[in-house]
Amino acid sequence: MENGMQGSKRILRRGAEHFASLLGPHRWRKGSQLLILMYHRVLPPSDLRYIDEQPGMVVHPETFHSHLRWIKNYFEPMRLRDWLQAVSQGKHVPKRACAVTFDDGWRDNYEHAFPYLKLEGVPATVFMVSDYIGTTRLFWPERLARVLRLACARSKSIWNSSEFLWLQQLPLPIKPGSVTVDMAYIDAVIVAAKQNSDADLHHQLDAMYRCLGESEADMTAQVLNWDEAGEMVRSGLIDVGSHTRHHTRLTTGISIAKIEDEIIGSKQRLQDGLSVEPVTFCYPNGDVCSAAKQLVRSHYRGACTTARGWNNRQSDPYQLRRISIHEDIGKDETAFYASLAGWF
Ligand SMILES: [Zn+2]
Repeated sequence: MENGMQGSKRILRRGAEHFASLLGPHRWRKGSQLLILMYHRVLPPSDLRYIDEQPGMVVHPETFHSHLRWIKNYFEPMRLRDWLQAVSQGKHVPKRACAVTFDDGWRDNYEHAFPYLKLEGVPATVFMVSDYIGTTRLFWPERLARVLRLACARSKSIWNSSEFLWLQQLPLPIKPGSVTVDMAYIDAVIVAAKQNSDADLHHQLDAMYRCLGESEADMTAQVLNWDEAGEMVRSGLIDVGSHTRHHTRLTTGISIAKIEDEIIGSKQRLQDGLSVEPVTFCYPNGDVCSAAKQLVRSHYRGACTTARGWNNRQSDPYQLRRISIHEDIGKDETAFYASLAGWF
């Protein structure tokens, strides 16, 4: 039930959205703009995979289809690779170009996005995590969401076992175990857990699953396999970009050898598996240290961040901004165009 304050906030937000959709930059911004949309997963709410996913990661298939039609009202859709090449050669690019991108290489991109991309003739780039392709591996946020739900169904004492104690050290106002684990709470735990390294998080999660006696071996694959990725790439509509080998955040604490392996190794593996050279890169979680950026510069034509905004010919091609789109902020035309402005 909505209270008075929430009601007025909602009305104010709606008013701001109307303003932005009518007067946002998709209507007035001049001179070779590139809007890059960032998607992750495309899933219907009835899908079981939806349950453990953060709201900011998902869009419904029908909503995604509408987005493609709305994009075409104001933008010329093109592959990120082609826009970067044209700009680097000083060639013409559309006044308002739009590049659709997907992060992580989820299997649902093949199942639910690819059919609509073909139908509407809109190209896209999928940033794939090379060593996850064709495996049942899961990224740590999804592993964490699942293990928190599993633990919730067990006795309360589980939260005090040594494998779960690291959660108590996270900067959270309410500690896990003393609250119902719903998606909003899981979201908060995931954000707080980002203070730990990827390697530590995977070790901690291995221990938690062992402690619960839950296996992850028989899980269904959630990321693309090589056949699906190959079919998308061969269609000519989908380009492959690299998102490292293991979705490792490229922060300063990581060795140069590891950074090289993630950046150069992923390119090689994707090229071997898909017979096409990936020329675009996407920094996991938007994190990049100077050594990693330098390596990306030597091996790719451009790279996407998670920083919000638009790009133009003068933008640093290795620091490209994007607008993240998901169901909550894009379910109707007004909200969608308002989101493109990146104002709120
Ligand atoms: Zn990612």
